[in-house]
Amino acid sequence: MRPISAGTRLIALLGDPVGHSLSPVFQNAAIQAAGSDAVYLALRTPGELVSQVLRGIAFSGGAGNVTVPHKALAAAAVDRRTEAVEATGACNTFWAEGDEVWGDNTDVVGFLRAAQPLVGGALDGKRILLLGAGGSASAVAWGLIRSSSQLTIVNRTRSRAEQLVERLPAGPGAVRIADLDELAGERFDLVVNATSVGLMAEDPHPLPADGEIDFAAAMDLVYKPDRTGWVRSLRSRGIAAEDGLEMLIHQGATAFERWFGVAPDMSAIRASLPNREG
Ligand code: NAP
Repeated sequence: MRPISAGTRLIALLGDPVGHSLSPVFQNAAIQAAGSDAVYLALRTPGELVSQVLRGIAFSGGAGNVTVPHKALAAAAVDRRTEAVEATGACNTFWAEGDEVWGDNTDVVGFLRAAQPLVGGALDGKRILLLGAGGSASAVAWGLIRSSSQLTIVNRTRSRAEQLVERLPAGPGAVRIADLDELAGERFDLVVNATSVGLMAEDPHPLPADGEIDFAAAMDLVYKPDRTGWVRSLRSRGIAAEDGLEMLIHQGATAFERWFGVAPDMSAIRASLPNREG
């Protein structure tokens, strides 16, 4: 590892909690592989300090990520917002340019890059079922609407899905809201779980395995060291399925590009994370 010096740049993750995050592991591996004089640290940050900490780090030559529950606060704290931040109201990446702090939401690109291999390429025209209407669902929905997908959103609280769709700008894709029982007999190219169902070992699968909804592939935004129970069960039935680790890696790689102006070494990122079968 490059020694820390007076010129070392601080790249910080702001969130609460942050102790579980894999970002310091793979971002420091990417920094080392690039030979950059920087260090990535997780800072547990109370909400009332997010704006000051974020702006202070950015104007001291640093940059960073923001995670739950502070992405909306970060969106309000930056001076310039990418289209993804404007659309989703969430910022997960910040850096300074001149006398302005920029914010991006790289969850949008992270999701798209992780999802494309599951549908065999471009997402345009693909029929996608999105479960959830929270913060991550907003990034997924915006990415899919921009990619000209045909999107169906199902959420436990239907009114929250309605608010999500009202908030998002119109794009080339089509979007509708449905309840699960209205979708019996329909076929989707991809189902995305953007709910928190699956975080706990005792959770049911986010989509019942009753065969009423047919789908070719699935992506679970929840991730676990040995993948989620839903992903393992789908894979055992021969359905292409990935958990959220790929999205995490790709959102991080896109953030790295914003901070350093170059793409990170993806093999160094993958080598720093626990090895998985398959
Ligand atoms: P959030 O804003 O709190 O939204 C939670 C969503 O889950 C809401 O749609 C909520 O529905 C739904 N939900 C919660 N409990 C449920 C239940 N028992 N049955 C059905 N629906 C339920 O959370 P978030 O930030 O979007 O995160 C969602 C998940 O994505 C988390 O597990 C998070 O770790 C993961 N995530 C992964 C990545 C990645 O890079 N892989 C990035 C971001 C998030 P209601 O509206 O009805 O409450």
